[in-house]
Amino acid sequence: MASVSAHPDVMEKLVSLAKRRGFIFQSSEIYGGTGSVWDYGPLGVELKKNVKDRWWHAMVRARDDIEGLDAAILMHPRVWEASGHVAGFTDPLIDCRNCKRRFRADDPAIKGTPGTPDAQCPVCGSKGTLSEPRLFNLMFKTFMGPMEESAAIVYLRPETAQGIFVNFLNVQQSTRQKIPFGIAQIGKAFRNEITPGNFIFRTREFEQMEMQFFVEPGTDEEHFEYWKAQRMEWHRSLGLAPDRLRYKPHEQLAHYARAAADIEFDFGGSLGYQEIEGIHNRSDFDLGRHQEYSGKKLEYFDQPKNRRYIPYVIETSVGADRTTLALLVNAYREEEVPGETEGRTVLGLAPSIAPIKAGVFPLVKKDGMPEMAERVANDLRRTFPIFYDDGGAIGRRYRRQDEVGTPFGITIDGQSTQDGTVTVRDRDTLQQVRVAADQLRGYIAERVAPAE
Ligand code: ATP
Repeated sequence: MASVSAHPDVMEKLVSLAKRRGFIFQSSEIYGGTGSVWDYGPLGVELKKNVKDRWWHAMVRARDDIEGLDAAILMHPRVWEASGHVAGFTDPLIDCRNCKRRFRADDPAIKGTPGTPDAQCPVCGSKGTLSEPRLFNLMFKTFMGPMEESAAIVYLRPETAQGIFVNFLNVQQSTRQKIPFGIAQIGKAFRNEITPGNFIFRTREFEQMEMQFFVEPGTDEEHFEYWKAQRMEWHRSLGLAPDRLRYKPHEQLAHYARAAADIEFDFGGSLGYQEIEGIHNRSDFDLGRHQEYSGKKLEYFDQPKNRRYIPYVIETSVGADRTTLALLVNAYREEEVPGETEGRTVLGLAPSIAPIKAGVFPLVKKDGMPEMAERVANDLRRTFPIFYDDGGAIGRRYRRQDEVGTPFGITIDGQSTQDGTVTVRDRDTLQQVRVAADQLRGYIAERVAPAE
């Protein structure tokens, strides 16, 4: 377990802000909610989309050695036998015969040894009712076709990686990529997690952004180091504070893994440092197993070297939801405002990530200001997500945008209708500058572009 962080625990405040402002809602809330499944509201979907777009850009579009893929969620059931998930994607769990609750075997709240009379259930308190640990598979099962029988069982994928492995040759042959090269995809994954929680940190349905880089055996270690560095750089480029990010090498490796490290972010409070991304050197395990189970050759022929081999795989695997949560935690702050009695809540999101790029406000609802403000908003909206607000005191309107991370507040005042300039307020410095309305698009574009 992580030690208590020096950063405050902002999770409860974030859950409330996320609901109030339309970032994230509990799934099926009007029915009492679904355990650890969340829905992204209007601002949340923009924020998460920005995260995914940044990943896709960095991993696919800005490179000539990685190809994109969007494989289906449902796959042939043999895939999960080959991958080891049917046999091994399990958590040891303990059942209470009295209250029917289930616990992870390593749950620190359990007293005594489960399976013996002295063990006590942490929920109902009864003694001797806890079972011995039993393995529980985390994959969601369903049936394909009209028959609910064992031959028709399919799984909701617990990771996106297998869609990449089974398409390795399709992609390589259709694109004529040469090793080393990678395949990347973003997609939903499902895990029947038993101790989910902490908002969107661990959920039963989530999105992964995964990339498998296929390399020649013997060159894997240098590629592993390269990807470790690249991926850390990407998290920093989103605006995550460098001093809240660290590497954590895995002490225990899976039998097929040659090296593995996590990138961890400090979520604050008792959660502290937790994994947001895993980087793994998976050897030829996955392609080797699929070759064995499918009976299809998954080798690569290196023409210049006249060598045939199963490539090794360096995998980078990051959660879109967990990264979104890290960004929200990283961005949340409450502060005093000089010269004002009321403090403010700010999401200090990097402008490139912020769901709304600018708020547009007529100072008052008269003298041609709303008309000009609407023109400005409509013009900017062709390029950026914009929020138009003419309700309430201007200070209030600024605050509402600060709270959702909008980097710029554009106000149309009395002078604007005279000389065609508007004020642009910076969310962080609170400085205001006058900008010609017809220059606004360029002004905002320059400031919301991601740092290269
Ligand atoms: P954990 O130990 O935290 O469950 P893991 O080691 O099983 O994670 P991987 O299988 O390596 O995770 O998945 C890669 C990434 O996918 C994780 O770093 C995380 O960002 C994300 N992820 C995995 N499981 C979940 C989940 N249940 N909810 C949200 N994101 C998840």
